[in-house]
Amino acid sequence: MCAAPMALELPSAPKIGMVSLGCPKNLVDSERILTKLRADGYAMSADYAGADVVLVNTCGFLDSAKEESLEAIGEAIAENGRVIVTGCMGDEAATIRARFPQVLAVTGPHQYETVVGAVHEAAPVPPSPYLNLVPERDLKLTPRHYSYLKISEGCNHRCSFCIIPSIRGDLVSRRPDAILREAEKLVAAGTRELLVISQDTSAYGLDLKHAEWPWKGAPVRAHMTDLARELGKLGAWVRLHYVYPYPHVDRVIPLMAEGLVLPYLDIPFQHAAPNVLRAMKRPANEARVLERLKAWRAICPDIAIRSTFVVGFPGETDADFQYLLDWLDEAQLDRVGAFRFEPVKGAAANALPDQVPEEVKEERYARLMERTAAISAAKLQAKIGRTLDVIIDVVDEDGGATGRSKADAPEIDGEVHLRDAGSLAQGDIVRVLIEDADEHDLFGVPAA
Ligand code: SF4
Repeated sequence: MCAAPMALELPSAPKIGMVSLGCPKNLVDSERILTKLRADGYAMSADYAGADVVLVNTCGFLDSAKEESLEAIGEAIAENGRVIVTGCMGDEAATIRARFPQVLAVTGPHQYETVVGAVHEAAPVPPSPYLNLVPERDLKLTPRHYSYLKISEGCNHRCSFCIIPSIRGDLVSRRPDAILREAEKLVAAGTRELLVISQDTSAYGLDLKHAEWPWKGAPVRAHMTDLARELGKLGAWVRLHYVYPYPHVDRVIPLMAEGLVLPYLDIPFQHAAPNVLRAMKRPANEARVLERLKAWRAICPDIAIRSTFVVGFPGETDADFQYLLDWLDEAQLDRVGAFRFEPVKGAAANALPDQVPEEVKEERYARLMERTAAISAAKLQAKIGRTLDVIIDVVDEDGGATGRSKADAPEIDGEVHLRDAGSLAQGDIVRVLIEDADEHDLFGVPAA
């Protein structure tokens, strides 16, 4: 005779809510924290109401980002009440505690163990063999088909407008074999596009003296070109972000021409006028950039260059700004983002003389955006009639789809809108015939 089955009472796992602010680097930190918490037996909550504790991963890059972080903390406290703060603003615990004395804990950037410890303290996991399960793969905050891959942390430069090095410290590169192992896992789990990020991708491995590690039976150097080549062999799109135009970047361009790495470079030039670049203390500040852009395009004609610029930096004269506009006309960059200079607390640039009045910044910003939008529109017009590879991000209910070409990074660049998605699914890479274009986006249909 069998015994009557006993109902098994499973303890419920504490639920964690996560608000992740700022750049993709912060997003990767959030993913790491959530992965660790998931492994420790926590569940995730998509809303404030269902969370036992809410983590706010803050950004402190600009004062406006800090204000946004403080607003997010305030909202989490109002909606839930049990809040732990981490990330870049964690270095300003006093400011946070003065405004929100009820926060449970404040931890700084990269203090994974401290933040995880604070969660354990605030919402302990009841002991149970059923809760402490390790997830099959890391948790991701991006869609399954693309993933950010962080290759280093910190930065050895001291750009005068930036406080990142004082928050995140000097460059610390990950071992190339560890990066490649993570990338391989991501690709096996469905990632079709790897977005390589860091503070300065071209500096990767400097702190490791570009030492070699064994990978699949051969040595691989901790160096951007070696890493890019090996990543390119994994079968996913590989997109390089935050690359400074050091001379060795020239050696990545042939990998793009070969199709191993996407023909795309995100280079934050920030300005072109030599004296503004000097005042900014920018790395790889050298005059030959325009010549090198030409040389890169000769090797890889389809290369898309994305960049960001700051207008209204202290001391920027009308002539400097005109120099920048003329430089942009020559450089013909594919994608451009711009910021009006904003003094960030603690940045050396705040003490520079000749601060630019706000209305002048606005006017320069509008002129720069108008100029670069016209360049972008002309470049996109030239793509009409071509057939491009497009990765599908979203399939709409009305039968269309939205994706991106190799020239478009998610969130920051343009999109390709497809009418008639047919049987396409998210993450598919398809050939698309481009039929139309506007200033930022392309429009097309799947090619026969
Ligand atoms: S390169 Fe300059 S702007 Fe970029 S993180 Fe380093 S110091 Fe900041």
